[in-house]
Amino acid sequence: MVGTPRTLQNPFAPRTGPVRGSAVVSDTFRAAQARSDEIEQQMADDPASLRMLTGDRPTGALHIGHYFGSIRNRLRLQDSGAEIWQLIADYQVITDRDVAGDIAGNVRNLLLDNIAAGLDPEKATIFTHSSVPALNQLMLPFLSLVSVAELQRNPTVKDEAKSAGITSIGGLLLTYPVHQAADILFCKANVVPVGRDQLPHLEQTRVVARRFNDRYAPVFPEPGALLSEAPLILGTDGTKMSKSKGNVVELRMTADETAKKLKGAKTDSDRVITYDPEQRPEVANLLTLIALCEGVEPAAVAEEIGDGGGGALKGRLTEAINAELAPLRARRTELEADPGYLQDVLRRGNERANEVAEATLDEVRAAMGMVYL
Ligand code: ATP
Ligand code: MG
Repeated sequence: MVGTPRTLQNPFAPRTGPVRGSAVVSDTFRAAQARSDEIEQQMADDPASLRMLTGDRPTGALHIGHYFGSIRNRLRLQDSGAEIWQLIADYQVITDRDVAGDIAGNVRNLLLDNIAAGLDPEKATIFTHSSVPALNQLMLPFLSLVSVAELQRNPTVKDEAKSAGITSIGGLLLTYPVHQAADILFCKANVVPVGRDQLPHLEQTRVVARRFNDRYAPVFPEPGALLSEAPLILGTDGTKMSKSKGNVVELRMTADETAKKLKGAKTDSDRVITYDPEQRPEVANLLTLIALCEGVEPAAVAEEIGDGGGGALKGRLTEAINAELAPLRARRTELEADPGYLQDVLRRGNERANEVAEATLDEVRAAMGMVYL
């Protein structure tokens, strides 16, 4: 770890309170949730005022954590009429590993997964940030707005370093929340649908926008997170479901692969199924996934399963996930047959992203007095 003097608790995570079973939610998380509620209202009242940016790292194929944590909200925003920017964050792959692996294959996976899930390339701009030089140049003025100490405090950077098994944090990992600010602010996005793990980064973006506006001229909005009902889906090992961890149910898996994967999901030794997120997080996670697929309450699902035990729980979840993802999987197979189409989508997305990034960089330079000719 970089030399942080003490271990900071993640201020964005809802915390367990002093009374057993009562959830005391941190102020920072509460503020983010309140902003998310306002965005929900704005989506209903004036969706055209919303510009969304979100992104994934091309480190693998997307999984059900993405689907419930972020993609469903991306699609709700798209359907509401908000402007949609979908980033494939290719430079971010090398934040926590030496080489990027099959990055071209994974860029293709992200295109396939997002479009198969319903992202419409006619409405959404899908782009890779390495193809947009002006976006990356925003890093320079933005880096001047943050301190090293503040970067070292970011709890998500620490978590990501830990889960990647990194003992020494590189410069790109330390500064990637600032790069993410450039990703979000280059197109002046004001809403970012994310999982809870991303809240510290979004807070960093808000700080960068605020400081730039105060120091120079009001150029950037302060974006808010749109949080989902399922801000953190756990993987089959009981930790955050992550592409890089192998604990995932991928969107592209077959029905049989899904069944096999879920059969191995961690539960606990208590046979009777109850919904208790505090004491039984793994079982609660599986119940939540069923509830999200079926549009019912997790506690009601628990009662129905009762002493059917883990086998019945996993069986029902497998059916629910396979039913939910069947149309997506069919579309994905069709899209795979047309690689030219995917390339065209990316080419068009990168062109549009470059136009907008260059215009924003011009504004930034003008605000900083860096116009000489
Ligand atoms: P990696 O292991 O390579 O970091 P990842 O699975 O964490 O991959 P990202 O590309 O880092 O995926 O995340 C993309 C988006 O999906 C982010 O908004 C993130 O908050 C959300 N997300 C990722 N995993 C989950 C999860 N388990 N639950 C909810 N949201 C998630
Ligand atoms: Mg991640």
